[in-house]
Amino acid sequence: MDKAKTSPCKGASPGSTGDDLPDDPTHSAPKLMPKKKVKCLPKGLCSESAEDECVNSSGAGAHGVEGASHPQDGFATCCEGEEDIDEDFIEIDEDSSYPADAWERLKVKVPDLRDMKPDELIVEGDRKHFLRFVCMSDTHSRVEGSDFVHRVPHGDVLLHAGDFTMHSSIPELHAFNDFLGQLPHKLKIIIPGNHETSLDQRGHGFDKGHARREQGLPRGDNSSEISEELRYLRGILHRGILLQDSMIEFCGIKVYGCPWMPVYASDGFGLPRGYQLLQMYNLIPKGVDILLSHGPPLGIGDRTKRSHHAGCVELFNSVTRRIKPKYFVCGHIHEGYGIRSDGTTTYINAAVCNKNYRPVHAPVVFDFPLPAPITVNDFHRMKSKRIKVKTFSPLP
Ligand SMILES: [Zn+2]
Repeated sequence: MDKAKTSPCKGASPGSTGDDLPDDPTHSAPKLMPKKKVKCLPKGLCSESAEDECVNSSGAGAHGVEGASHPQDGFATCCEGEEDIDEDFIEIDEDSSYPADAWERLKVKVPDLRDMKPDELIVEGDRKHFLRFVCMSDTHSRVEGSDFVHRVPHGDVLLHAGDFTMHSSIPELHAFNDFLGQLPHKLKIIIPGNHETSLDQRGHGFDKGHARREQGLPRGDNSSEISEELRYLRGILHRGILLQDSMIEFCGIKVYGCPWMPVYASDGFGLPRGYQLLQMYNLIPKGVDILLSHGPPLGIGDRTKRSHHAGCVELFNSVTRRIKPKYFVCGHIHEGYGIRSDGTTTYINAAVCNKNYRPVHAPVVFDFPLPAPITVNDFHRMKSKRIKVKTFSPLP
């Protein structure tokens, strides 16, 4: 059967079902060879060091977080004769450019996938050893100057998974920064989305002269001038911490930000499905606790109004087989708003705007356990210099 005819979705942008998008040219890109390590010994042969590896490779107990996981469960499972595969690299999927076909084949990999209710992520009572994260995405310049700011739940850390503007203009960036300044959360971690074209260093949809004209400078065309503009534009968002292929670590919690997604028209941060996207996902270290991504993975919070899966196949494989974060927070597909779990990762599509760009969805809240003996008070006493940002891909 001709896949080019049967695969309905080659990518999608908010407000698009992806039906009319061009074919992805990268399906024939060279494959990255998988490198697999089997870490567990057969039952009864586990040494102390092997036990440690078993626990970590199961994704349980890897973060030293009491109550966040069940290391004994992971150990018991992998030591009962099953191979626990710890994959360092993910190969390109044979159906990279055909998400509908890929999902038919891959959905059995997440047999425990289920919808969750918001209150399942909340700790009742004493929250001394938990940080409260408040997640939103795709606010699209629709929340500034309204009463929405009063509808954002209080918490310790705010996460915004991109598309905070419609057109990435300088006034919109200033308005979003002012909105961040009105929120009470100690840390505000943000990533750009496909609408933030002016923050994409490749200049997709970027009015290169805009920022410089505002500063009374001539139009910049060379790379150093573009870098200067990008620094200026990123600097506008100083109320938040902007992650792009970078990770912030505080109180033993690692949050990684990845804006890259399947390309759509000339939007920002789009890459062809397959090799190029996988390269960006391969930058993400194993063991991150929270992965902030603008786009959803295949099959999880990625269904468009026409019921097409618009998520990224490579992101699904990378998240479920290699990275295995505790939380995955995204947006992009507004219709995919909601919370799901596959038993290892909790997936939150936090798109605030609906299909018609009306901010009708509530931010999603989750409580994340702090490594003992750290408390919420320790977090709030933390000096900003204790917050480390590590970049995995050089920015211009
Ligand atoms: Zn959006």
